[in-house]
Amino acid sequence: MNKNSSNIMALAPNTSNKRETVCIFGTGDFGRALGHKLIQSGYPVVYGSRSTQISNLIPKDAEVLGHAEAAQKAAIIIIAIQRQHYNFLTPLAEVLRGKVLVDISNNLKLNQYPESNAEYLSQLLPGSKVVKGFNTVSAWALQSGTLDASRQVFVCGDDVEAKQMVMNIVRALGLTPLDKGSLLAAQEIENYPLQLFPMWKFPIFLSFGLATFFFLYCLVLDVIYTYIYEKNNFSFFIAITIPNRVCPVMALILLALVYLPGIFAAIIQLYRGTKYRRFPDWLDKWMLCRKQLGLIALAFASLHAVFTLVTPLRAFASWRTSKGIISQALNNKTEPLNHTNAWLSDSYLALGILGYFLFVLLGITSLPSVSNNVNWREFRFVQSKLGYLALILCTAHTLVYGGKWFLSPSAYKWYLPNIYILSLIVPCAVLVVKFVLIFPCVDKPLTQIRQGWERNPKYSE
Ligand code: NAP
Repeated sequence: MNKNSSNIMALAPNTSNKRETVCIFGTGDFGRALGHKLIQSGYPVVYGSRSTQISNLIPKDAEVLGHAEAAQKAAIIIIAIQRQHYNFLTPLAEVLRGKVLVDISNNLKLNQYPESNAEYLSQLLPGSKVVKGFNTVSAWALQSGTLDASRQVFVCGDDVEAKQMVMNIVRALGLTPLDKGSLLAAQEIENYPLQLFPMWKFPIFLSFGLATFFFLYCLVLDVIYTYIYEKNNFSFFIAITIPNRVCPVMALILLALVYLPGIFAAIIQLYRGTKYRRFPDWLDKWMLCRKQLGLIALAFASLHAVFTLVTPLRAFASWRTSKGIISQALNNKTEPLNHTNAWLSDSYLALGILGYFLFVLLGITSLPSVSNNVNWREFRFVQSKLGYLALILCTAHTLVYGGKWFLSPSAYKWYLPNIYILSLIVPCAVLVVKFVLIFPCVDKPLTQIRQGWERNPKYSE
């Protein structure tokens, strides 16, 4: 949901101690949970129900009456009933005339009906003022008080006064109303609870596809090739060795893919000489899921860190170490410390640790609770400048690790390059083009274009 498109209403203190009665139609899960919360917040609650028998589940201070009788006691009526039963309200049209009806309903599918439930309710009862709200809050969250994830209540309606009355109730319950405008927005609000991680689909499919490809690639080169040509059975590599190759490769490529769309955008703007033309759809969509790509990259980097930390515990690692010690003992010769290797391995680890630290910093600043507390310039500094620094450090970490044998023929089993060589293609391309883009002769026109300058203005004075 786009936070900028919504008008976040400031919490206003309630000046009066006396709350007006709220009527709830329906004593189902949601009606009862909302009733409890309203009573806790000092609202007298009256239920309109098909049965006026009081059950144990109904909040004890609430009244239960027939629908018409209950409606007469309140100016606001919350319709806690499924849409398919709304027809029963038509005979109550006169009693409900001028009342504020709050439609809280959801559907089972996206765009299930041609019109939203709230608009349908408004068509059934044109004399009432329909307001959409509360549908993104669950009965369970209301009852258990765990409202942290759903503290925002999207509200829309054609009658401004009616909307204000509902928003006052929302605030009194300790929630935050977000005014989404007229009843036309109801369909969008009704679709919110049905969305399943919409911004995550592309990053997840991409990561899954790439991780599967790299896993199979390593399986072929590290297990199948070794088995065929060296008669070694390294099938146990599937558990830790291969995942610990795939994870850093994925982390590096996905981090580079966070910055690649920005590079494309800069090249397109330079080529067109204007920023006033839309980017292609694929680029727009890619830009919108950069945060998700970055967070998945961070998850892969964290897995890589954990896999690396458990390496000394592996039977394979201790076997290899003892094999080295025994061969030195048998040859009666201690290998001297190779200072170049010591430097390379320490630098490789230091670069990895620093890169991971910045990676975590990027992840933390992308959390709304943190990003809301920094200004735009600070946010850009972390996400762009420190982000590129993280990419440089992680690319250098891979280069230092594999640099010495990238050129060795043994790194090309079946003429296929090593996975680490593949992993460097996108990050190196991003860094090289970015390096070109910061040259003053390129950066200056790009900055001008981003400030509104056009090479061939469409509307000249
Ligand atoms: P529910 O447990 O099935 O309760 C619905 C209530 O509607 C019933 O208890 C009944 O109340 C009344 N009702 C049922 N059939 C009726 C009919 N033919 N005529 C008149 N009234 C009838 O459903 P719910 O979970 O409370 O959900 C109610 C609404 O809230 C739905 O539109 C749902 O989409 C929305 N909502 C629910 C949640 C949630 O977490 N449950 C969250 C957001 C929105 P009486 O027996 O008292 O008449």
